[in-house]
Amino acid sequence: MTRRKLCVLLFVFLPLLFAVAPTSSTQEVTSVYPDAYSLYLDLHQNPELSMHETQTAAKLAVQLRKAGYEVTEHVGGTGVVAILRNGSGSTIMLRTELDALPVEEKTGLPYASKVRAKDDSGADVRVMHACGHDLHMASLLGTAEIMARTKKAWHGTLLLIGQPGEEGFDGANTMVRDGLFTRFPKPDAAVALHVANAQPAGMVAITPGVYNANSDSVRITIYGRGGHGSAPNTTIDPIVIAARTVLAFQTIVSREVKPGEMAVLTVGYLRAGTKENIIPDQAEMGLTVRTYKQEIRRQILAAIERIAKAEAAAGAAPREPLVERYFGTDAVYNDPGLAEHLRTPLELALGKTNVVIAPPITASEDFSVYVAQGIPGFYLSLGGADPEKFADAKATGTTLPSNHSPLFAPDVDPALRAGINAEVAVLRDLLNMSPEELRRVTSPPLTQVDDEGRR
Ligand SMILES: [Zn+2]
Ligand SMILES: [Zn+2]
Repeated sequence: MTRRKLCVLLFVFLPLLFAVAPTSSTQEVTSVYPDAYSLYLDLHQNPELSMHETQTAAKLAVQLRKAGYEVTEHVGGTGVVAILRNGSGSTIMLRTELDALPVEEKTGLPYASKVRAKDDSGADVRVMHACGHDLHMASLLGTAEIMARTKKAWHGTLLLIGQPGEEGFDGANTMVRDGLFTRFPKPDAAVALHVANAQPAGMVAITPGVYNANSDSVRITIYGRGGHGSAPNTTIDPIVIAARTVLAFQTIVSREVKPGEMAVLTVGYLRAGTKENIIPDQAEMGLTVRTYKQEIRRQILAAIERIAKAEAAAGAAPREPLVERYFGTDAVYNDPGLAEHLRTPLELALGKTNVVIAPPITASEDFSVYVAQGIPGFYLSLGGADPEKFADAKATGTTLPSNHSPLFAPDVDPALRAGINAEVAVLRDLLNMSPEELRRVTSPPLTQVDDEGRR
């Protein structure tokens, strides 16, 4: 072959090779990084509270339209849905949250938030992206741009969503109720990531199976009979019944749940009475319950009801206590088949040592709502800690600020680059599988608990 022929061949085939199988994910990320970082800075300095993410959603929508996506706004409140259709194949969803928290930022960063807002009760609060959702949005934008520029490297339908109100666990439900999976294509798999200081920036962690905890909030109203503090014999004192109930609750995890099973039961508030010489006619308490397994969750919720009723009966309460499970969200379940399958593309994109397996965490989040719709889910942990500070903390046995801390400050450059890199690797891999191939990889769906705590 002459040198001229070789040059022609290279000229024709090289760009094709790069378009079909990009070999340098670092270069791809570098090309979109300025857009992603400038969105990060803007969002970090202009955070908005849950279900009020008007400007945040509008900014994300503008950028995604610019990148070539078909964008619908106001889905389930401030939710954003962006679609990129690229021939036949699977539909894969990538989700970011939009909301920030009522936290006063104390990181001292030059771009720290100074925003104040009114919360839903009308109180004046400081607002901060203390959970890192600004980084998730920036990562999603970088990913969106790469996917739009490299359509030859994948096929199918890419569905990107900006979800409002993750912190109050409202947003996923409001989007689903507003037709997320009926007005738009229902995904064959759903993907999300969350930044935290549990790993150094540049790394990701996979947790196959249960990723985080079921969360249940229970309110109990105990009824008594009020009267004068000097004549308790004429009353039924709900404070005494409530105190006994709180103590009896301590035996649920320690005496009833099998040792080794994760279970947390906390009485977070107990309210009763107005004055020292008045016995009130009722007492109220609020509990949070965290579990990994549905059977343990059901066991604890049933024990709470049984003990509350029995203690009220023991105290001769005039009526049964009111036990209300007023809020609950399921644990996020990472499809074990998907988690196993996606380890390889992640290792190829980030390097083998930058992908680790991690145990579940006790926090909760509403990505589980999508999984409950029968969609296999993959929820990835993204390292956010400055690698040097991470090593120091490990050596000295200290901990770095957790999410929701006024000091939470991810090491943006390496974390954001790794986030984009990981998302692109996962999406390309999943999109290049047919729905049938995906079904073969994923595990059978897990039966979820409904709003009443029943299977
Ligand atoms: Zn959070
Ligand atoms: Zn979060």
